[in-house]
Amino acid sequence: MFTATPAESKARRVIVIGGGITGLAATYRLRQLAAAREKLLEVTLLERSEHLGGALESIRRHGFIFETGADSFLAEKPEARELATRLGLESELIPTRAEFRRTMVVRAGRLVEVPEGFSLMAPARLGPILLSELFSPLGKLRIALEPFIPARRDGGEESLASFVTRRLGREVLDRVAQPLAGGIYTADPKRLSITATMPRFVEMERRYGSVCRGLRAVERARGATAKGDSGARWSLFLSLRSGLGTLPETLAAKLGGTIRSASEVRSIQREGDFWRVHFEGGASEVADAVVCAAPAFAAASMLGATNERLAKLLDEISYASAAVVNLAFRERDFPSRLQSFGFVVPIVERRQIIAGSLSSLKFENRAPAGFVAARAFVGGVLQNEMMNLSDDDMIAAVREEFRALVGITAAPQFAIVRRWPDSMPQYVVGHLARVTEIERLAAEIPAFALAGAAYRGVGIPDCIRGGQAAAEKIITQLSADR
Ligand SMILES: Cc1cc2nc3c(=O)[nH]c(=O)nc-3n(C[C@H](O)[C@H](O)[C@H](O)COP(=O)(O)OP(=O)(O)OC[C@H]3O[C@@H](n4cnc5c(N)ncnc54)[C@H](O)[C@@H]3O)c2cc1C
Repeated sequence: MFTATPAESKARRVIVIGGGITGLAATYRLRQLAAAREKLLEVTLLERSEHLGGALESIRRHGFIFETGADSFLAEKPEARELATRLGLESELIPTRAEFRRTMVVRAGRLVEVPEGFSLMAPARLGPILLSELFSPLGKLRIALEPFIPARRDGGEESLASFVTRRLGREVLDRVAQPLAGGIYTADPKRLSITATMPRFVEMERRYGSVCRGLRAVERARGATAKGDSGARWSLFLSLRSGLGTLPETLAAKLGGTIRSASEVRSIQREGDFWRVHFEGGASEVADAVVCAAPAFAAASMLGATNERLAKLLDEISYASAAVVNLAFRERDFPSRLQSFGFVVPIVERRQIIAGSLSSLKFENRAPAGFVAARAFVGGVLQNEMMNLSDDDMIAAVREEFRALVGITAAPQFAIVRRWPDSMPQYVVGHLARVTEIERLAAEIPAFALAGAAYRGVGIPDCIRGGQAAAEKIITQLSADR
């Protein structure tokens, strides 16, 4: 085991903790920056498990490609697309299949299309709302009143539930915003901070006095290109032809010997001018700088001895658990022609899944001819009790929901359950203030950076951006030290 102090060797040494997409992106950027500046830098990525990529994991079996965690990323935030391109994966980038690009939501046990032009919580146009079966006449009237509701101007953090109810009424919250927007975060809308998660809607209220007017302005600015796509969630996403797992797999292949899996960090401590990193089992190593890209609760326990207040704030970021159930069906077992690749399930419907999708209708290359790949998202803050089910009971619950909602009674050819315990950081009201303080305290610690889904965005592009920024910060600090 490496025990010499970094001062004894010429190369500076950086340890990155956590081999999710954030840690991989940070490690890759560190190596790129060091090469560009012709710096001698030894980078080691330490990952607790045997699996690299965290929530990005593709299983390829019998001609199917199953995503057991994340299945796509937002195209309009450029970091994931750009990283894929830099890794030589540009030709692998695939959009959602246009012919099935429709967002459905469950209403009274049936799938109903989200009206055209509806973006997560509000419509750009009223026409499609008036024709929709999704809202009652009173609910539609309440939506029509949105441009006349005075804007809140005090600038404080607000929950999704409060914002949507105040501007568009309770029906929009229950029927669309909770399952679409809250579903992404598997969160309780009464606690989820809209300011931390969807600031563009808060900005629309501030700037245009109305979310609907703001969306119309965005639509005008974009031209009519998005016309025809309902619910922003599906139409703006990209994946990779060989599975999203190709992204961490390619990063890991390029980083090669830099990575050490099955290496769990217990604590990190400043010793003079360098860091001592302690492992489970008692061994330790030293480094000039550390990037911590592990979840906030893990960072909290590592940092306890370094900065108690920082550790406490990190520990206050709570996490939800979820599971993904992938199913392989025969196409002929579906009773009717499939129209849409996905649906979300409002909590008021009292069902057993958060969302369902037909992965092979969503993206090409997900199932062999004659078969359909399907998946369901289970658990989250509002249905955490589902996590107590055995794999067999979870599969049975998902089959029951696909039977009721999509009409498939046949048994799947096979099913894969993947659990993600404590995997989804909850951006509750107060998150922004907490993260600002965390960042202030972390900035006071020499040669140290924090990054990951817990802070300024849970999406894959946000995590990549955070990892890259942490790498840049470390390189700048190490350069200044010389
Ligand atoms: C089921 C699911 C579906 C999702 N779907 C999407 C989607 O479709 N699109 C999208 O953009 N986002 C999606 N997300 C969110 C996104 O995938 C995650 O926010 C992102 O992958 C988190 O990356 P990360 O590297 O910050 O954290 P993680 O992936 O959690 O990685 C942290 C790593 O640190 C390691 N670690 C922990 N403790 C230690 C320790 N003590 N020592 C060493 N290593 C340690 C862990 O083992 C882990 O590998 C989804 C998330 C989940 C869970």
